[in-house]
Amino acid sequence: MSIQLKNLGKTYDGKNWVLRGLNLEIKDGEFFAVVGPSGCGKSTLLNMIVGLIPASHGQIIINGKDVTNLPPKDHQLTMVFQSYALFPFLDVAHNVAFGLSAHHLSKEDIHSRVDHALQMTGLSEFAHRRPRELSGGQRQRVAIARVVASDAKICLMDEPLSNLDARLREKMRSHLRTLQRQLHMTIIYVTHDQIEAMTMADRIMVLHHHEVQQIGTPQTIYQHPQNTFVAGFFGNPPMNLLKATVKDNELVIDDTLHLPLAEQLAAGDYTVGIRPQNIQVVSQDSANAKLTNIEYQGQNQILDIQLANQQTLQAEISAASQPFKVGQTVKLGLTGHFYVFDSQQQLVSEGGIK
Ligand code: ADP
Ligand code: MG
Repeated sequence: MSIQLKNLGKTYDGKNWVLRGLNLEIKDGEFFAVVGPSGCGKSTLLNMIVGLIPASHGQIIINGKDVTNLPPKDHQLTMVFQSYALFPFLDVAHNVAFGLSAHHLSKEDIHSRVDHALQMTGLSEFAHRRPRELSGGQRQRVAIARVVASDAKICLMDEPLSNLDARLREKMRSHLRTLQRQLHMTIIYVTHDQIEAMTMADRIMVLHHHEVQQIGTPQTIYQHPQNTFVAGFFGNPPMNLLKATVKDNELVIDDTLHLPLAEQLAAGDYTVGIRPQNIQVVSQDSANAKLTNIEYQGQNQILDIQLANQQTLQAEISAASQPFKVGQTVKLGLTGHFYVFDSQQQLVSEGGIK
C-alpha cells in the first residue's frame, strides 16, 4: 500500500500553478503530514490524490497503478474532512455503517465492523446517540470510526482536528496516532499546525509558495531546516532570523554580536537563524541591547530584545533566572546551534557554540 506522486502539478485557471513539481513516495504504514500556511494548496493536493480534482500535470500512482485519470472509486482511498459531515437524523452506529453499504457486505459483517470501529474509537456507549447529543470531540471520533469500519488501508485527512478546542486536540493527537499504529494504516494528514505535524508524523512535507520546501522526519526538519521559511515555521517561539554580514570570517549581526564561522563564506549579506532557547541574556548597564517586553510563562519567560541596529529578537530563558526589567539593557550570548542562510534564503552553513 503506497502512494507515489510524480511531478504532480495543479492549476485551476491554466495560468497560475497552485502546486507544481511534487515528487513523493509515501510508504506503507506511514503517517505522513503535509503542512503549510492557509492557501498553500494542501486541500488541493488531497483532493487530487483522492481523485476529486483532476491533476493538471504529472502522475498519481497508488499501489503501483496509475490512477491519475481514473475516477475517485478507483483510487480506493477514504477521506476525513475538517467538517465531519455526519447525518443528524442517524445515530452514531448508523452514521458509521453508512459508508459501508457500498462495500456489498452482509448485515452481520457490517454489524461487527461497526462494533469494532466504535470500540476502537471509544464510542461504544454512544452507539445510539444522535450527533447533536455528542461533543465536538466525540463527533470527530465518529468520523474516524467510519475510517476504521471501512477497513481502508490508506486514509487522507484534511485538518481533522482544527474544529476542536486546544485540550481536546492534544488528546486526539495521541489517540489518532495510536489507532493508526494499531491498524497499520497509511495516513496522509493535512494541517496548518506545525505542532500537529511535529508531534504526529513519521515524515513531514512542508509546502509554501506552490512548491515543496522540504521533506523529512520531524527531527530533520527541526534540526536542519533547508531554508528560512521552514526555519521560521517550526518551533515556538519561532526561530530568530536576523540580518548579518560576513567580515573577517565572522558573522556580524550587530556591533556587539558576532558569531564565528565554521567554514569560509563569501563576503555579503546573510540571514542568521538562532532559536530563542539558544540565546543567553545577562543584565549589563553598558550593553547596547534593550529589553522591550517580558512574557512570563510559568517555567520559562520570553524576552523581547532590540539590538542597537533596531533588529529585534526573542530569547526564552528560565523564569528562575535573575530578574529583568522592561527597558533595561542586556548583553547577549549564544549557546548551541545557529544557521546561516544565503540571500536566496537557502541554508548554506550551520555553526555551533558550546
Ligand atoms: P489550503 O488547503 O492549503 O488552505 P487550497 O488547496 O484550499 O489551500 O487552495 C490553494 C489555492 O488554490 C488558493 O489560492 C485557493 O484560492 C485556490 N483554489 C482552491 N480551490 C479552487 C477552485 N476550485 N478554483 C479556483 N481556485 C481554487
Ligand atoms: Mg485546506
